[in-house]
Amino acid sequence: MRKPKLRELGEAIRAIFLGPYTSKFPSKPSVPEHRFRGKIEFDFDKCILCGACVEVCPANARAQEDDLIKRMRREIHYQERCIYCGQCVGYCTTKQGISHTLEYDLTQIENKGFENVIEKELILCEKCGEVITTRAHLLWIARRTGELAYANPNLFLVLSQEYGEQAVPKSAEIPPYRSEHLRFLCPSCRRTVYLKEIWGY
Ligand code: SF4
Ligand code: SF4
Repeated sequence: MRKPKLRELGEAIRAIFLGPYTSKFPSKPSVPEHRFRGKIEFDFDKCILCGACVEVCPANARAQEDDLIKRMRREIHYQERCIYCGQCVGYCTTKQGISHTLEYDLTQIENKGFENVIEKELILCEKCGEVITTRAHLLWIARRTGELAYANPNLFLVLSQEYGEQAVPKSAEIPPYRSEHLRFLCPSCRRTVYLKEIWGY
């Protein structure tokens, strides 16, 4: 007969005094280790809907939809597709927009309620209607940029509106005057307004 190894003997003696390693789940849920990758949750205030987490998701468990009529962006986390790899948490732009919880008991018999959705306002180019990004994203950049934000019209505008000020009177059209450059414009339209329409290039 093979003699028991010392390590196994130690484990057996330990189990006699301290009890088994296994828990009596589900009657007594076990507490996961603090770095456990459990259910993923958004933080509505900290997520800016930039989409970085959608780009890095290897399981196609995240998606973004832009509604140009309502001017809203939705981000959806499809929990049933998630492999809990943590890429989205690790690469989150704000580092606080999304996190793992310690929740692991996610079984259910109906295929609904798995989606986690967050929505925020979109900013569109006032000249061509292209999506620039979300208001929250622009604000986040403006606050990190500090006083340099006032050199960028999009950032200046979003900060002004955040503080309840109307930077310039609005007109229906965007005439090619420098005084009208304080608009939300995509890079292409800003180039057109600055170079082509103002300077004739
Ligand atoms: S944990 Fe991984 S699979 Fe799940 S949403 Fe994040 S990146 Fe995608
Ligand atoms: S802020 Fe973070 S969680 Fe929100 S969309 Fe960007 S990367 Fe994803």
